Amino acid sequence: MSAKLIDGKSLAAKLRETIAAEVAQLKAAGKPVRLAAILVGANPAALVYAENQKKSAAQVGIDFELHQLPSTASEIDLHNTIKLLNYNTQVTGIFLHSPLPNGLDLQTAQYKIDILKDVEGVNPANLGHVVYGHTIIAPCTALACVELIDSTGIPLQGANVTIVGASRIVGRPLSLLLTERNATVTLCHIYTKDTPVACRNADIVIVAVGKPNLLLADHVKPGAVVIDVGINRVKAPITGGGGGDKTVGDVDFENVSKLASHITPVPGGVGPMTVAMLLKNTLRAAKLVHRLETPFGH
Ligand code: NAD
Repeated sequence: MSAKLIDGKSLAAKLRETIAAEVAQLKAAGKPVRLAAILVGANPAALVYAENQKKSAAQVGIDFELHQLPSTASEIDLHNTIKLLNYNTQVTGIFLHSPLPNGLDLQTAQYKIDILKDVEGVNPANLGHVVYGHTIIAPCTALACVELIDSTGIPLQGANVTIVGASRIVGRPLSLLLTERNATVTLCHIYTKDTPVACRNADIVIVAVGKPNLLLADHVKPGAVVIDVGINRVKAPITGGGGGDKTVGDVDFENVSKLASHITPVPGGVGPMTVAMLLKNTLRAAKLVHRLETPFGH
């Protein structure tokens, strides 16, 4: 491997220190910093996620509460829960776990979240503000990618960036954040005619699809920066890998890392930075709620 590893884990740890210091200041001034998560149904993976959320919030002094609704909850039940949290002055951030059980529309529920408490940046109003370049709160994974690229010191202005994966929560908002930084962005998706060509032309490639080995070495320009958002569980080889499950990204790490200049590992790259960005967004939301910052400035 000749690429420099972009160590999301240690970058996230540094960020958490500054977040913790600011959270402590707010709380010392009598201003709560409290994240409320809503989980509808008892999806085991979501329960584990909520438990991890509680731990990572505690690490930086953010108070956390989980509101569990039964899988039979109606749209009105869910909207009422959100409404109560919107009005609750002790709650400064709201996170809605997805997917929602059948019959509940995610986008309608996200639309109900107070835009100042919307720590995931998923209310259509917050996503819309990303277009205007005066972000109130932007989606965590997109912010994490920008932070990781910035950590390399490679300028975004004038860079050719190819994003593979155009979801509403990662690829699309990321394309707007990078355009705002004066990068030239190509956004590829399942119907793109020649994604490898778009990747080979790029100074920075970001892959957010959810398919192992989607980005191969001959898709990457030597010296490019590679950010791997994908999370995939695959069987480890019996010899050397123990034969159990392991987590990999969307990039053929072994071969791409031989020619990229910088690369994120999976695990340990975008994942921990996304968690840190959620905490940073929660701090931002608290400052907005307490009117210490304004939506369009600081
Ligand atoms: P999604 O399923 O909503 O979107 C996938 C996108 O990939 C779509 O735009 C689709 O058109 C595109 N796509 C599918 N196959 C393609 C192909 N062969 N070539 C080009 N484009 C293709 O996914 P998502 O929610 O954005 O998540 C993507 C991946 O990122 C998943 O593995 C997910 O687990 C991971 N993820 C990681 C984090 C993190 O914190 N690390 C956060 C969010 C998502």
